[in-house]
Order: sequence, then C-alpha cells, then structure tokens
Amino acid sequence: MKKFPLNNVASSGIAIGTAFVAQGVDLSPIGGDIAPDEAEDQIAAFVRARDESLAQIGVLAETNDIFKAHLDLARSSSLYNGVVDKIRVKHKNAQQALKEMEGSLAARFESLPDPYLRERATDIRDICGRIMANLKGVSLNIFDSINEDSIIIARDLTPSDTTMMDFSKVKGFITALGGVTSHTCIIARSLGLPAAVGQGNVMENITHGQFIILDGEQNFAILDPDEATIAEYRTKIAENAELAEALKKTANLPATTTDGHTVEIFANVGSIADTVAAKENGATGIGLFRTEFLYMEGKDFPSEDEQFAVYKECADIFGDAPIIIRTLDIGGDKALPYFTFPTEENPFLGWRAIRMCLERQDVFKTQLRALLRASAFGNIHIMYPMIISLEEYRAANALLDECKRELTAEGIAYNANIPTGIMIETPASVMIAEDFAREAGFFSIGTNDLTQYMLAVDRGNDKISQMYDSFHPSVLRAIKHVIDAGAKHGKMVGMCGEFAADKKAMKLLLGMGLHEFSVSPMDIPALKDRIRAASYAEVKDFAQEVLVKPTLAEIKGMLQ
Ligand code: PEP
Ligand code: MG
Repeated sequence: MKKFPLNNVASSGIAIGTAFVAQGVDLSPIGGDIAPDEAEDQIAAFVRARDESLAQIGVLAETNDIFKAHLDLARSSSLYNGVVDKIRVKHKNAQQALKEMEGSLAARFESLPDPYLRERATDIRDICGRIMANLKGVSLNIFDSINEDSIIIARDLTPSDTTMMDFSKVKGFITALGGVTSHTCIIARSLGLPAAVGQGNVMENITHGQFIILDGEQNFAILDPDEATIAEYRTKIAENAELAEALKKTANLPATTTDGHTVEIFANVGSIADTVAAKENGATGIGLFRTEFLYMEGKDFPSEDEQFAVYKECADIFGDAPIIIRTLDIGGDKALPYFTFPTEENPFLGWRAIRMCLERQDVFKTQLRALLRASAFGNIHIMYPMIISLEEYRAANALLDECKRELTAEGIAYNANIPTGIMIETPASVMIAEDFAREAGFFSIGTNDLTQYMLAVDRGNDKISQMYDSFHPSVLRAIKHVIDAGAKHGKMVGMCGEFAADKKAMKLLLGMGLHEFSVSPMDIPALKDRIRAASYAEVKDFAQEVLVKPTLAEIKGMLQ
C-alpha cells in the first residue's frame, strides 16, 4: 500500500478501481515482405478488413453524412487496386501495403490546390487507420476494452476522448498534463467523477492494472490498498451517496436565505442528458449551454436542423424558465476534429470564439438561425463568448437581425425579442461593463477565463497552477464591479465559471449581490442547501470586508 499525493484536484469525490493506463492505439504495420505464394491470403485479409470497416462506417453514416463520403473512399478502386498491386507485385504484406497506399493517396490529396479536396487527406488517413485496426484486430477506441471499474491514467485527455468512455465503468481520471479548469475537468465535474490533473509523472508511477483508490477529498491516491482500507473507502462512498440523495429531496426548494433573499441556481450543461440532470437536480434555468460539445461529436459542423432539434428539446425540458445558450466557443483548448485552426503562438489569445464566428459567418448564422427557430418553443437567451468590445456585440446582433429577416421572409416562427447577452470573461469587458450594461440584455461572468486573463496565468498550465486563483483581490473586485454595473442598469448578472460552485466562494458571491449561480447539475442541491442556511445581511458585510483586503493571503485567511 502506497500513498501518491495529488496536487491539482479538479473534481472531488472518491473512486475505487483498476488503473487503466491509456496508451494510443498502435497502428503501425507489423511485418513487411512476403513470399509470392502468400499474396492471395494477404489480399483476402485486406478485403475482409476493408469489408468490416465498410460495415462499421455504414453504421456511422446512418446518423452522419460525412461518413457517406468515407464509404465511397473506402470502396474506391484506387485504394483496392493500389493495395492489391503492392501485395501481388511488390510482395508486401497487407498491413505494409495499406500503410504505403495511405501515404501516397493522402499525399496526392494534400498536393491539390482546392482546400476542400485537400481536407480529404484526413479522411483517407481515417479510413486507412480503421482498416489497419481491423487488419490487426485492435479496437480504435482505446477505452473499449474497459470492462471493470477503472480509473483512467493518461498523459492528457481531450473532451473528445471522454466522448468514447463508458461512464458506468470509468470512475475517475488522473492526468499528467492540464489545469483544473480545462474542459476535461469540467466534464468530470459534471459527471460527479473525481479528477486530478497536471500530476507530472503519474504515468511512470502507476502501472496498468494496479488497484487504486483516488481520494479527491483529501488529495491523494492509494496504490495497492489493503482490504481494510478498501472497506473503509467503500463505506465513505456509500455515505456520500446517501448524503447526495438526502440533499436531492430538497433540491426543488428555492435558494432563499434565512432572511428572505432569493437567488437563481442555474445549470451549466453541454448536452440533452445534462439538461435532464439539471432539471432533476433542481435547476431553475440553464445558465450556460456549452454548444461546442455538439460541434465536437460529429465529423462536420452540425446542420441548422440538427442544432434546432437539440435547442428545442432543451426548451421543451425547461418550459418557460430561461435557457442561456452560448454560441460556439471554439479554439483555446477546444478543437474540432474536422476543422483546422491556424497554428498560433497563443491560442487562448488567438482566433477563437466570437472572433472566429464573426469571420466564419456561414458557421455562425447556421447556429443563430437554429437558436431563433428554437426560441419559438421556449425562453431561449443567446450569449456571446469572449467579447471585448461593443463593436463585437453589435456585429453579432447585426447578424442575428439578418437571420431574423431571413426567417420572416421564409415564414418561420421565432421570438423577435430574444434576449442577447455576453460572457464577461475578459478584462476589457470588465472595464467597460457599464457601457455593456446599457446595451446587453444580461451578463454571465466566466471566471475560468477571466481569472487567466486578469492574472495572465494560463488556465491549462500545470507549472503555474498555484498562481491561478479566483480569490485574487483583482478578480474579486472585477466581479464586484460587473455585478454593480449590471445592477445599475437593471440587468441580470450571473456567473457560469467554476468559481460559482466553489464552496468557499458562496458567501462572498452571494454577499456581493450575484443574482444567478450557474453550476454543474450535480452541485446544485448542495449549493442551494448552503444558501438556504446563510443570512444575506451577514454575507453582505462579510463580502465588504473581504473586498478591501489587498492580498490573497489575507483573503484566504478570512475564508478559513
Ligand atoms: C469561463 O470561461 O468561465 C466559462 C464558463 O467558459 P469556458 O470554461 O467554456 O471557457
Ligand atoms: Mg470561457
């Protein structure tokens, strides 16, 4: 039994399971040259693997058009003839022949002047990778083989990696890289799984198959625990579950303080499943729908109809309650599998979110039209991310107006008065918050990004993660400034950054006058419970005292 300290715990809780040390799938060919009389067997193996791949792609193509093009490429005579030729004439085995053909076909596409055709090189690699996996008898989804309670140990995990996991078996994550507000951590929190990130040498210290306990409450992992320790932790897990169940019973009560001040507790979601969970856990609205997850799942930008269906379903679940849907916030640490971002020195300061949308108006307008159409069915609010200027806000609204005119001309219903608001997540928007408050419908403070930009500390960099702290006096005063600016002009100010769910921040945020807290569905019952136990008069005084403290150390001292 050995304790392994964890410094960056991004999502608390306890998990027990077998370590699954995630290594990439090895798609390199095994063997090379063959004797001439082996050729026909190798061709048969290739054809079998190709047909298996065609069947798999066929299933994917039922729900996603992009795979229809993959079917054509996989069936193409150039791929078949090329591979067969290399096996029969050059005496290569099927795996080697396929690898060589993948290289030459991809290079052929990459050399074309048309950007659309150049992109097909990625499709070729995708298809050949799938055929290779079938030839080698390995699964493309490395998490496929998980068949018992497991804790994933990985160098890094992307949000798309998490889409491949079966969460009835995956119980927690520990990664070598990443910061606590990376999107993988946000996903872990939304699932209620413990996660520790930026743990440096974790891959070297935990072996595949080793039994471990991940204690995200006391911040360590126990490797090879003894029976007594396992039993003790199983009891803790059961107690936590009981507590969560008990809290759920009061989840639908309003978040009203002991002296009668009520705030809204909304949910941060990224899918319909999250939206259902939000409703079950007592959310009175959706404070942030991260639409980028819809864009990450597919093989191409989601169509207007596909998006409309999701937004409408959300509206159906929440009735008249507000649903704040954020327009595409891609870039930074969020990539799309089918879209190549320019290589940038500083992606978090680069061509992302609203900056990309205002340029790629085709992509943006598709989303705005889908949101408008869904607004006929519920109380949908549109929120723009990463705004730094009134010009951007007005430009986004101008495109929204263009979409409204188009829909009117097409005779399609929408809410002409759909509210639009902004994320406050840049120092620029904080400084001119009063000007925004005159024009924008509402604010939601995104402390994940605001903290990194206020402090100039990369939210994903584990080397400086101890400097990333939303209790820094500059961040707290920025938040207060924004809340006051909104109040002055009668605009709702919410917070959808992870700070809204911080147990120690609750008194402070409530006392500063925050009107809406938007947190993971799982965090809602406990947050409501804490607010119901608080006195508004007391937390207001407390917040005033904290806000004048000039150092983080003094602030932390007051919060103890
Ligand atoms: C934020 O920056 O606080 C936020 C909520 O947005 P995201 O985490 O998606 O960048
Ligand atoms: Mg953000």
